[in-house]
Amino acid sequence: MRHDEKKKRDRTAIALALCFSVIAIASVFTVKSGLDKINVQEGDRGSGNPVAEQPVTKRIPTVDSTTNKPQSSSESAYSAPLTGKIIKDFSPNAPIYSKTLDQYMVHNGIDIASPRDTQVKAVADGTVTKVYKDDRYGITIEITHNDGLISSYGNLSTDSLVEAGDVVKKGQVISGVGASALFETLDESHLHFELLQDGKPVNPHDKMKIGA
Ligand SMILES: [Zn+2]
Repeated sequence: MRHDEKKKRDRTAIALALCFSVIAIASVFTVKSGLDKINVQEGDRGSGNPVAEQPVTKRIPTVDSTTNKPQSSSESAYSAPLTGKIIKDFSPNAPIYSKTLDQYMVHNGIDIASPRDTQVKAVADGTVTKVYKDDRYGITIEITHNDGLISSYGNLSTDSLVEAGDVVKKGQVISGVGASALFETLDESHLHFELLQDGKPVNPHDKMKIGA
């Protein structure tokens, strides 16, 4: 009998111990899952924070696509001031015959044939740096561009559309084709166009597509 009672007590003790351990394990899991929930919630809050995350993912590509593309594509920075047939090409070293002067002389620009009053457009963004009457090429407008190149438009019809200091956009109309160039009065109606770098003539063909 005693022996049996002891056995019973032992069983009860084991059963109680098991119960306690089950409760203990269960409570550990409960606490753990509670902690996990908190962690998940905090994680959600962290990734959903617009202030911390968005500037990195959004600002960089936006800046790249809007400000770098137009500046880096240099081949599209310049366009012709007007369309027309080239009647006298760029020839800064080899003199070519001038009908008006009846002699051979160098030509630092390109003459593009076009009817009187055809719109003359800025070849690129820039600032008007000179508007004057040239002894040889008549009403002349000079635009200085961001890369230091100067575009010069001669034999114009008017000097009233822009003035020195004006900021102009590529393609903006700055004047019209005129007949003001004394040196080229016997040639057909045209624009006398030059490009200059540090005062020296630059071949416009290297910078833009010219000619009809
Ligand atoms: Zn010319």
